[in-house]
Amino acid sequence: MTIISVLLIDDDALDRKLVKLALSDSGGQVKFKIEQAEQLAQAAEHMAKQEFDVVLLDLGLPDSVGIETVKKFRKLNAEVPVVVLTGLEDEERAIDAIKAGADDYVAKGKLLKDLIVRSIRYTIERKKTELKLRQAKQRAEELQAETELVNKQLQVSIERANLMTKEAMLSNQAKSEFLANMSHEIRTPMNGIIGFADIMMDEELSEQQKEYVEIIKVAANNLLTLINDILDFSKIEAGKLEAEAVDFGLESLLKDITYLMKPMAQKKGVKFEVEYANGLPDDMRTDPVRLRQCLFNLLSNAMKFTSEGHVMLRLSPANGLEGHPQNDNRHFIRFEVEDTGIGIPPDKRDSIFDAFSQVDGSTTRKYGGTGLGLAITRELTHLLGGEIYLKSEIGKGSTFYIIIPVTLPSATGQPKEQSQEQPKVEPLQEIVSENPPPSDESSVKTVSGRVLVADDNKTSEVLSSLLLKKLGFDVVCVADGQEAVDRASEESFDLILMDMQMPTVDGYEATKRLREKGVKSPIIAVTAHALDGDRNKCLEAGCSDYVAKPINRDRLYEIIRKYVQRIDTGENAKSQEVPANIQD
Ligand code: ADP
Repeated sequence: MTIISVLLIDDDALDRKLVKLALSDSGGQVKFKIEQAEQLAQAAEHMAKQEFDVVLLDLGLPDSVGIETVKKFRKLNAEVPVVVLTGLEDEERAIDAIKAGADDYVAKGKLLKDLIVRSIRYTIERKKTELKLRQAKQRAEELQAETELVNKQLQVSIERANLMTKEAMLSNQAKSEFLANMSHEIRTPMNGIIGFADIMMDEELSEQQKEYVEIIKVAANNLLTLINDILDFSKIEAGKLEAEAVDFGLESLLKDITYLMKPMAQKKGVKFEVEYANGLPDDMRTDPVRLRQCLFNLLSNAMKFTSEGHVMLRLSPANGLEGHPQNDNRHFIRFEVEDTGIGIPPDKRDSIFDAFSQVDGSTTRKYGGTGLGLAITRELTHLLGGEIYLKSEIGKGSTFYIIIPVTLPSATGQPKEQSQEQPKVEPLQEIVSENPPPSDESSVKTVSGRVLVADDNKTSEVLSSLLLKKLGFDVVCVADGQEAVDRASEESFDLILMDMQMPTVDGYEATKRLREKGVKSPIIAVTAHALDGDRNKCLEAGCSDYVAKPINRDRLYEIIRKYVQRIDTGENAKSQEVPANIQD
């Protein structure tokens, strides 16, 4: 049985009686517990003492009359369901009462008995539903507010993450720039060390002195390799390294490699051979510089860790890589570097590919190195779209192999032999290097002419001028770009060797001004900046060619020979000034 507590506010005793009567016989489902008040003030007292399920309100009270009664009551209690008791003909007023805050109305009179219970119950239920609805709405609003807050926080987090990524990128860039600058700073003095060690070797030295100079050269070259590795690695880390797609011939790549490896092998008493299987294309397209770097890293390691036996470079066609089968355009080549050296323990076969990691601490002491070579090689292999693998047996040797995709240069590049079967490995075929370019200056010693050397670094200037004088050139030296512009526009030079980093007017600016003035002499840029793009920057400024510091004597002579020959034959003559002559 439901008990409903009712507050009946009516000043008319008869009406109250009628209502009580109507409620007393409600069909047994509910029971009404009724409190009575004759005016609003009294009602307020009741409500202060207890809560009611419903209020029955007469509009004509001693302390309030009409619609005002509802409004005043609502000030006392905003929530409790209110049913207004009206006169029989008072429909209009009842509607106004509902607008003013009542929930329902019943007319006093004959029908009161039938209607009042239904009205009370209906009003209570409706009020409950309303309350639930209001609560749900409120919850929805709260949830919306919460969602907005979370969204805002998310937005802040995204902005922070973006900022952090930007900062990380900037700091990585700063690191790369720092390394590039450091490498530049180190290269300049290295230019002096390597260059003068080279020059000293030409002097009359005792065997002992020759050995010391040789040690200086080896140490300096090791340092240079280290700088190059660090620079490469930082470029890879900064995502600045990009692979080019260039057509090149396999044979010239192998010749280059043989040319570099043969002397090392001879020195160590280790056999070095290159062999390749049938079915390889003569010409192909990938990034030969990066490929050569990978092969050279693997071959240098093989040579370093092998004291007897052989180091072998094998080439064969491969079927493809997982998820990348070969097709008409894409061929895969497997380059295998096998040695009979110390081998690599199984538990180190993964970690040696990480940066700065070696098999054990004693490796550095015994063999040198930084542990960067394989990390760079792996990254470069990936850059070329390939994979690197390793097989090894302790004490017996190791085989590193890389598989890379190549495309064939259009039209020309058919594989050597179009065989349907798996290509058979031909008997070993050694690539014999052609006579290497002479490492002394004898072949160009007979040159004459005038060269302008612009370099603010005294050591570099003396070194360059010595190297040029040894060739037979007359050398004029200046210490900055402005002087270079002044001298070269007043006098004629057959060649200008221009350092690019000089105070006030640098080499780029000086070259631009000289070209604007119509100076046509070959200008060879000399720069310690070894980053990609530096070469282009020099050429864009108007330079004819580029040598990196530390100056490699053979490379410098090779470039000079190129321009001297051009001048001599008159082909592509870069100079309209007095040509340098080659004296027989
Ligand atoms: P580095 O040679 O400068 O130390 P690498 O990254 O090229 O750096 O090689 C990492 C290490 O892997 C080497 O220090 C050496 O311990 C091991 N390693 C690499 N190649 C060979 C090899 N052919 N034979 C034996 N050990 C090797």
